[in-house]
Amino acid sequence: MKTYQCPYCGQAYRHPGMAKRCMKKPLCRALNAPNGRIRREWEIQAGTVTIALFIASAAEDQSEGESKEKAKAVIAACDQICDRLRETLPVGKRVADAQAQRILDTAARVWGIGKKAMTVHLCEVIINLICDVEDHYREQWREGQDQEGKRLWTLLGKAVDSLYDALNPTNGECDESWRTPEAYEALRLTIWGPEKEARAPSVYLANDRIWVVARGRAEARDCLLRELGLVRPKLGGVALGTVLEDGRTVGDLVSLAPCIPAIVARTTA
Ligand SMILES: [Zn+2]
Repeated sequence: MKTYQCPYCGQAYRHPGMAKRCMKKPLCRALNAPNGRIRREWEIQAGTVTIALFIASAAEDQSEGESKEKAKAVIAACDQICDRLRETLPVGKRVADAQAQRILDTAARVWGIGKKAMTVHLCEVIINLICDVEDHYREQWREGQDQEGKRLWTLLGKAVDSLYDALNPTNGECDESWRTPEAYEALRLTIWGPEKEARAPSVYLANDRIWVVARGRAEARDCLLRELGLVRPKLGGVALGTVLEDGRTVGDLVSLAPCIPAIVARTTA
């Protein structure tokens, strides 16, 4: 009779689904049912890398010359993050495959794939998703934890920025720009799950001089467009514990906001 083995402990089962879900040994349990923290952190990082790899692979297929090289650089940065996830946040193949499938299903649903304009517009969405990961870890990184993770995510962020610039040298609006918020929301929901409570407000620095309090980047961009007419501000997240020149912390700026989102301060360059 044919049997199926657990890939981690070798236990034989008559049904392949049982072998995949084996919980016999501590290793199988850790990988097939990772604890809440590991699962959450893995979902956020692996989910974002999956979609970045997906679009970089499409860009690599579609382009030549500089864009192709930039796409390869994104793929290389993604590979480095994946290698590190295997070491620091190990999850079983079954958990990993299920998540990858959900993300690729959403990607396929949101976009028709293969058009050049789409790729540019996807890059923009991915830049925002990478920023979400950076926002999530910013406080930990500022405290000196996981500097290798910080280095790798910064590397990936820069690589996708360069790919975007190579695909869109005039920095113009592409045909599908109007779908960016819709695509972002769908992927954000798939990777991060429904927001359990309203997101805590974060502080963003736009174009190195305008301080905005908002719940997420999409809201900050919206506010800058409405209040100041800024179409593509350069938006950086700032850790709440960062101390400003006058001794206040960035977290103090949140209390200055009369409503959220709001522009709370400007500094002269
Ligand atoms: Zn097992």
